[in-house]
Amino acid sequence: MSGENNISSQWRRVFIEYLDHIGARLTQERQMVLDAALASARSFTARELHMSIEKNNVHVSMATVYNSLALLCDCGIATPIAGDGNERRFSIGCGRTIRVFCRRCGKSRAVHDSKIESILAEHHFRGLATEGFDLTVTGLCPSCVRAMKKAASAGKNIKTKQKNK
Ligand SMILES: [Zn+2]
Repeated sequence: MSGENNISSQWRRVFIEYLDHIGARLTQERQMVLDAALASARSFTARELHMSIEKNNVHVSMATVYNSLALLCDCGIATPIAGDGNERRFSIGCGRTIRVFCRRCGKSRAVHDSKIESILAEHHFRGLATEGFDLTVTGLCPSCVRAMKKAASAGKNIKTKQKNK
């Protein structure tokens, strides 16, 4: 028995209890969305969950995925985290995501930094019982820095040419 299966069954129990509490039940579709979410390595979007379910030749509607995902968020199994622009991303459990985002080209990726994680975990935000965090670090990626330097030096060349006239 692996530790991962243990966690999955714990989340499953949380979900069933929550559904029971709101007078709903764990349908096959909801189970599939839960399984797909738990199976994803890191963060995911609703569309990615939908694709991973349909890969097994099972059809679920996008609406079902959205609805089930909303339920997973309501009971704390999934947490919305920073999106890639248009699409909201989610992660399992409390968000502990540090997302590095290039403001010029929009490229982003998730990184893990245990130092920052422990600082945030120890910090008390006005008595808030902290469950997770969602941090976006904005800046310029190396290729954008190169592109901007190139553009800047090209601009200088034009100016010097004009002066020399
Ligand atoms: Zn960039």
